[in-house]
Amino acid sequence: MARRPVITRSVSSLRRALAPYRRAGKSIALVPTMGALHRGHLALVREAQRRASRVVVSIFVNPAQFAPHEDFGSYPRRLENDIAALTYAKADLVWLPSADTMYPEGFATKIEPEGAAKAGLEDKFRPHFFGGVATVVTKLFTQVTPDFALFGQKDYQQLRVVTQMAKDLDLPVKVIGVPTVREKDGLALSSRNVYLSELERGHAPALYRTLKTCAERIKAGEPIEMVLEEGRAQIELAEFALDYLEARHALTLAAIATPKDGPIRLLVAAKIGKTRLIDNLAV
Ligand code: AMP
Repeated sequence: MARRPVITRSVSSLRRALAPYRRAGKSIALVPTMGALHRGHLALVREAQRRASRVVVSIFVNPAQFAPHEDFGSYPRRLENDIAALTYAKADLVWLPSADTMYPEGFATKIEPEGAAKAGLEDKFRPHFFGGVATVVTKLFTQVTPDFALFGQKDYQQLRVVTQMAKDLDLPVKVIGVPTVREKDGLALSSRNVYLSELERGHAPALYRTLKTCAERIKAGEPIEMVLEEGRAQIELAEFALDYLEARHALTLAAIATPKDGPIRLLVAAKIGKTRLIDNLAV
């Protein structure tokens, strides 16, 4: 039977657990998660194992990246399942801080990213989000001091923001993006998919289908704005309330008018019932 990963809950025990890796010159990869692990998270763990000799997975549902009206309270928490999945995946260490450990009384510092974090995509609908993500990711990087950190392309704007932040702050970590893991029908795996009713689950693959159609049409030379308009209509036909469907520069997330303006990434966010889903695709 596989060995359970070491579980640490305080910064000092985390440092004690990491010290022998460092002394032995082992490279370390960090996979930050909010738990409720699925095959998408496990793809990050596998990529981490390919890159480094020790893999740390953090599980922390970060209150700082949820607005009061969002789903912090009901966000799925499945610690026993997660530990079983990480045992099977042969992760070495689980970093499991409490909210008090991460944000003790008197905590007063915030990282406020700009650039891709102000692209008018997720930030427009979740204005608190990237400040919360950047602050917690900076803390995780400082606590674990990983050589590599793995993030999913599923949260594409987040991946760009964290990559830029590591560069801007000279953080000694290589941020690596891992392709999105999907269900057979194209729906991107997400811890929030458990919120979907059977009917909503039936409609949900429309997001990815629309991204694919739009990407193909843009590649074929059709005008971007017209393609997006039709894509938006398609998504709304599938019972979604659309937040955005946009074509952006794949690295800066700046607006683009034609394919000549740079590599293009399509990004979408929409709500079906009470569940908000996001997805994205390269053109
Ligand atoms: P979360 O627990 O949702 O905060 O996600 C933790 C990490 O897993 C983030 O870097 C996500 O981008 C990544 N992730 C979530 N879903 C997927 C997926 N379907 N495929 C690949 N990576 C994912």
